[in-house]
Amino acid sequence: MSEEHTPLTVAQSQLKLASKKLGLDSGMHKMLSQPKRSISVSIDIRMDNGTVDVFNGLRVQHWDARGPFKGGIRYYPNITLEEVTALAMLMTWKCAIANIPFGGAKGGICVDSKKLSQHELERLTRRYVSLIVEYLGPHRDIPAPDMYTDAQTMAWIMDTYSQLKGYRIPESATGKPVEIGGSWGRIEATGRGVIHCVKQASVNNGLKLKGASVAIQGFGNVGYQAAVAAQEIGCKVVAVSDSTGGIYCIDGLNIPDVLAHKEKTQTVQGYKDCKNITNEELLELPCDVLIPAALQNQITYKNADKIKARMVAEGANGPTTPEADKILYEKEICLIPDILANSGGVTVSYFEWVQNLTREQWPLEMVNRKLEEKMTKAFNDVEAIVAKEESDMRTGALMLGVGRVANAIKVLGLWP
Ligand code: NAD
Repeated sequence: MSEEHTPLTVAQSQLKLASKKLGLDSGMHKMLSQPKRSISVSIDIRMDNGTVDVFNGLRVQHWDARGPFKGGIRYYPNITLEEVTALAMLMTWKCAIANIPFGGAKGGICVDSKKLSQHELERLTRRYVSLIVEYLGPHRDIPAPDMYTDAQTMAWIMDTYSQLKGYRIPESATGKPVEIGGSWGRIEATGRGVIHCVKQASVNNGLKLKGASVAIQGFGNVGYQAAVAAQEIGCKVVAVSDSTGGIYCIDGLNIPDVLAHKEKTQTVQGYKDCKNITNEELLELPCDVLIPAALQNQITYKNADKIKARMVAEGANGPTTPEADKILYEKEICLIPDILANSGGVTVSYFEWVQNLTREQWPLEMVNRKLEEKMTKAFNDVEAIVAKEESDMRTGALMLGVGRVANAIKVLGLWP
């Protein structure tokens, strides 16, 4: 079968499958397949050289039956409303699987952020918030970081929202710097959560984690933190990559040192005693655990058959296409799906929101302990469905997430 998928067609077909398995009626399926609101704005900003440029800003709010909309904001060239809609839908299921009281949203600005100065990025971010401010808020829609946005971006978002409302509202964004209400452990949360899932899966899988080899595509927030967490539990990270390519060393990499090299040279490539490899080669390396932590559509029908890892843990959103899912399942490769594997970030975002609402700051140990408890519970809830349905993990996770949202909608009823 040819693979002409967009992220939205994939998300829609996943919802269709889950709805069918759950026996949802067609009205419920129709409701869940549409976002509640899609916003597209033109962001005009003055560049440092005095000229004016215009960027497209998007925010899609999928469903809020279980709580306020919640989701990251990515800065990336060529993002589309369709892609953001698909990601918003995934967020709805993800929050339900993690069993936190949020709905799903996603946002983005169509921009190559590497080409803008910090001042230009600040003006872009603040103007974007001002254009959608009426749809945001701690009980409406709470942004978080995603690709090419970070704690500084969240500080600008929170500050702009607060300035426009007239008082300080730290709970209006998560993933902020700790100095202004960010949670300890938020930066590490998504990567750590991926490794909690790997730990749980290895129990069922009989994979010995001490000395297990791990390859990670993407060396940003998720990829780097997953690498650190994998090393903490005794795994050997043999390969990492970024947008310029990857590096491989069978004896394992010194991850903080690779980061220092990347900060100095802007690339992981050329790191000492390593072989430079392409991103494609990284995916096909012989290793125990493969963690795609960069972009969507990386494992497709073209390369799925060549994947040699015993386990794939999706740090990124949507890295595996439906055809590739089937191939990996037939090869008996354990795949931990994105909506479960990378839910650690939104889980600690929820902790941050709770801390802000109660004006508390929890110690790191408490955040990490609660994260592990939540991830383990979510993993076991999915596994229970997988065992009952004899399905793959993605189907089990979708059934759990979609089922919880549908139940909330049923209980709320349809007004008027
Ligand atoms: P990031 O911007 O910190 O890092 C992205 C990484 O991907 C960088 O290392 C970049 O060089 C690399 N990359 C970009 N283009 C690439 C290409 N063509 N080939 C290979 N690598 C490429 O972003 P992040 O926050 O780490 O997010 C990574 C993925 O994880 C995204 O899919 C995001 O949606 C998902 N995610 C992030 C979080 C979070 O808390 N940050 C939570 C859940 C899911």
